[in-house]
Amino acid sequence: MNQQDLWQNVLGEIELQISRPNFLTWLKQSRLVQKNEKEGMVLVSLPNNFAKEWVRSRYHKLILGSLRNFDGSIRHVDYVVASPATALEAEPAYKKTKPASAPEPKNQTPLIELKIDPKTNLNPRYDFRSFIVGSSNELAYAAVQAVIKDVGKKYNPLFIYGGVGLGKTHLLQAAGNEITKTYQGRVNVLYVSSEKFINDVVWAVRNKRMDDVKKRYRDIDVLIIDDIQFIGGKTTTEQEFFYTFNPLYENNKQIIMSSDRPPAAIPTLEERLRSRFEGGMIADISYPDYEMRLAILKTKAQEQNWSIEEKIMESIAAKVQKNIRELEGVLNKIVFYQEYKNEKIDNKKLEEIISETIQVSSKNITPQDVIKTVAEAFGIEPADLTNRSRKQEVVEPRQITMYLLRDILKLSYPHIGEKLGKRDHTTAIHACGKIAKEINQNPGLNQKIMMIREKMFKTS
Ligand code: ADP
Ligand code: MG
Repeated sequence: MNQQDLWQNVLGEIELQISRPNFLTWLKQSRLVQKNEKEGMVLVSLPNNFAKEWVRSRYHKLILGSLRNFDGSIRHVDYVVASPATALEAEPAYKKTKPASAPEPKNQTPLIELKIDPKTNLNPRYDFRSFIVGSSNELAYAAVQAVIKDVGKKYNPLFIYGGVGLGKTHLLQAAGNEITKTYQGRVNVLYVSSEKFINDVVWAVRNKRMDDVKKRYRDIDVLIIDDIQFIGGKTTTEQEFFYTFNPLYENNKQIIMSSDRPPAAIPTLEERLRSRFEGGMIADISYPDYEMRLAILKTKAQEQNWSIEEKIMESIAAKVQKNIRELEGVLNKIVFYQEYKNEKIDNKKLEEIISETIQVSSKNITPQDVIKTVAEAFGIEPADLTNRSRKQEVVEPRQITMYLLRDILKLSYPHIGEKLGKRDHTTAIHACGKIAKEINQNPGLNQKIMMIREKMFKTS
């Protein structure tokens, strides 16, 4: 399936799931402008910044899910602003059918078919050759190497934790691939995301097929579970996981897990699981330092045959500090602008690309930030929002504040009511519902809220 067909299929699917006006307003003009097979990454263009933010915040899950229905190797979607016309012009460069004389597009790896192995769920794209080791991940890397040498004996279970986009999945998958290769099929490896595990268990419980699940895991020699934090608090799943985990563990089968935090910090994890996890080896992955970030950028550019000025790579490495996926995202976009839109990447453009790629964590935003930003946007005082005043001109800003406190910070309704003039939780519920509905009907309001969001994420 070529890029255009893929996107048409995706749009066709999404069109059935959202309202017609929403589809026409937000997605009609979208294009798939880049597909990087190797990284499982897709770049979608929207006609303006506004639409881009909107689609990212509302439809991202839907888009990713649908893309994956058609192409399981896709793992990430990112968004850029480009007029539909430019986006279309860009497209022929990616098509596989082209005149024989046309030069091979640079950012494609057309000959290597990278397929996920259905038996192991491993993606061959993850290997150690493309994995840069530095001080932030050397412990985790060493532990994985020890496990590969001595499967099931040395560090069991091996528990690796670290923040988003820092290479946990890459490391786990590379370990699986390496083990498969080293032992040439004599060792059964299975990689599952804990999301998949949870789905399997839920399905099996519902259909009374728990024995099938047990059977599937019984013959595994190396079980790799990614993002294990998600099973915390899901009682049935935890229990099933325990029954799956225990016999494997007792038979010296290797278990490798990743999580976004150490076992002790998964609040809802059952005690018996926690103590098992802590009984093996725990290694963390932290933020890469500047040298490592630069090395990663250079390696990626080289792998893809991209020519990007040294100066630009240094700038990216200096500015994108906390997420390797974002580092790659910035690089992908630079190639898009440079090669397909023929734009010169100056400092201003680079800043723009970086700020639209870095997902500012809402962890840094406080309720006070929300209140302050809304007040500024409406030219009123923060106190107008937090007192009990019923002045007409503060009603809507206050409702917007409530909506944003809920949407961004996930505060509880009673808490929101309390913060904004000691109001009842029903007032907060009403306000959030009202704004959520109006956003879809009133482009002016929508725009205003988007601006507020943008401002908040930029300054925090
Ligand atoms: P996580 O699972 O921790 O969220 P991923 O393993 O998905 O992170 O990594 C995000 C992206 O960064 C992937 O494309 C991965 O290949 C790349 N990456 C992560 N760590 C490294 C590394 N040490 N060297 C090279 N690429 C890396
Ligand atoms: Mg991961």
